[in-house]
Parts: sequence; structure tokens; C-alpha cells
Amino acid sequence: LVRIRGLRKSFGLHKVLDGIDVDVPRGTVTVLLGPSGSGKSTLLRCINHLEKPDSGFVEVGGEIIGYRPSSGKLHELSHREIARQRSTIGMVFQQFNLFGHMTVQQNVIEGPLAAGIPRGEAVARAGDLLERVGMAGRESAYPRQLSGGQQQRVAIARALALKPRLMLFDEPTSALDPELVGEVLAVIRDLARSGMTMVIVTHEIGFAREVADQAIFLDGGRIVESGAPAEILDDPQHERTKAFLSAVL
Ligand code: ATP
Ligand code: MG
Repeated sequence: LVRIRGLRKSFGLHKVLDGIDVDVPRGTVTVLLGPSGSGKSTLLRCINHLEKPDSGFVEVGGEIIGYRPSSGKLHELSHREIARQRSTIGMVFQQFNLFGHMTVQQNVIEGPLAAGIPRGEAVARAGDLLERVGMAGRESAYPRQLSGGQQQRVAIARALALKPRLMLFDEPTSALDPELVGEVLAVIRDLARSGMTMVIVTHEIGFAREVADQAIFLDGGRIVESGAPAEILDDPQHERTKAFLSAVL
């Protein structure tokens, strides 16, 4: 479903992504690991064009994100086209990113309403999604009335509301109190079982081993090693991967 080739991104002189190639087959889970500053968030943000690559490209479902190829060149798409592409990719951040002045239900229906889905249908869909993340019955609560784990589950429902074909998670549990991590991981695990294609940045190594089909270790904007989670997580070949894993375990 996702094909990334030769992706490079610098901020000033700092090469944050230095030639990344990744394939994410449909229905699989890829976990991105790596030390702080290795480029994990930047890579996710390039996938939905929150960052523009300097060179290389990201393709999702056969479409290049952000650009249209024409006579051997890439032309940037209109804002509207980019918004359409983004609506097919759900993203969940470390900080829950709910709108504080909107109820749970309003947060979840906002995207579908903006996309022209009739209110009744958006509300029904929100009900199903909130049930799926264990938040049924909390439609009229405001984010501040919820725990971090509950807010993050609503954020997941919100990201699912436009029926994305791909979900991106950037350290979805690292801002949570330890006792709330499990309930959020359980929702993501269910999504994995349902066949959702996902790219997840996480330091939860046990979870990664359990749900991932592929693990990728990034350092200094390059892929140091990648492969089956059992290989990368239990038998890393590179010193930098070994050092990282022994630090987070
Ligand atoms: P962490 O584990 O801390 O979240 P990360 O692997 O997600 O780290 P990135 O957030 O992708 O790392 O950042 C990689 C590098 O790029 C960092 O050195 C960061 O300071 C730099 N960087 C990221 N975004 C920008 C920006 N908009 N402008 C300038 N530098 C940036
Ligand atoms: Mg990050």
C-alpha cells in the first residue's frame, strides 16, 4: 500500500532523512524505532505531506502524495487535492490533539461533516467508532473531563472517522500515565487484527513484537536495519540497534 523511495529531508544543513526506502504492504503493521532525533516523526509527517520531501517520494495506493507526475517531473498538487489525499490517511499524535471546546461526538463527526457526509450518518458512524474504542456513552463529554487514555481513544476514533486506508501513530502512548497505556495499545491491537494498515512509532517493544509484521530501526535519518520484529528486536545485528534496545527495555 505504501511505497517510499529515496526520501530526503533537511532542515537547513541538518539532514533529517537521508535516503529512506520503505514498503508497507496492505493489511500489515510496521513499527518505526530509533533514538530521539533519528527522524521518525519527520518520516511519518512526510507520509501525509505535513512535511514536503526535498527529494524522493511517498506513494500510497499507487498515488504519489503531494505531487502529480507529468512529463518526467513532479508538480505539486493543489491544497484541495492534498487535503483529499490526507483524508485517506489517519494520524494520531503523542498529544491527543482533540479540540478542547468540542464534545467527544463533535470531535469525531467534525471531519466527516467537513467532507460533506450528512449529519445523521456522521453521528451513526461516530457511535460505532466510539463503541469500538470503548468510549460508547461518553459522546457529550469534553476532552478535559476524560483521562489521557480516554482522550487518546477518542483521538483514534476521530482519525478513523474518514475511513482511512492507512493509519499513522506517533508515540501514541508516551504521554500517558503507565496504567493507561494498556487500554490504548488494546485499541491499536484490535485495529491490527481488523487488517488496518498501520505505521507506528513506539518505544513499547513488547507491543511491537506482538503486532508488527515489520520493524524498522532508524538512526541519523537512515535505516540501520529492518525486517521481521523477531529478528530486529531479539537479535539485532547493529551496535546502534543493540544500544537503543538495551536503553528502552
Ligand atoms: P523523537 O523520538 O524525539 O520524537 P524523532 O525521531 O521523531 O525524535 P524528528 O522529530 O523527526 O525525530 O526530528 C529529527 C530532527 O529534525 C531533530 O533533530 C529535530 O530537531 C529536527 N527537526 C524536526 N522538525 C524540524 C523543523 N520543523 N525545523 C527544524 N528542525 C526540525
Ligand atoms: Mg518524534
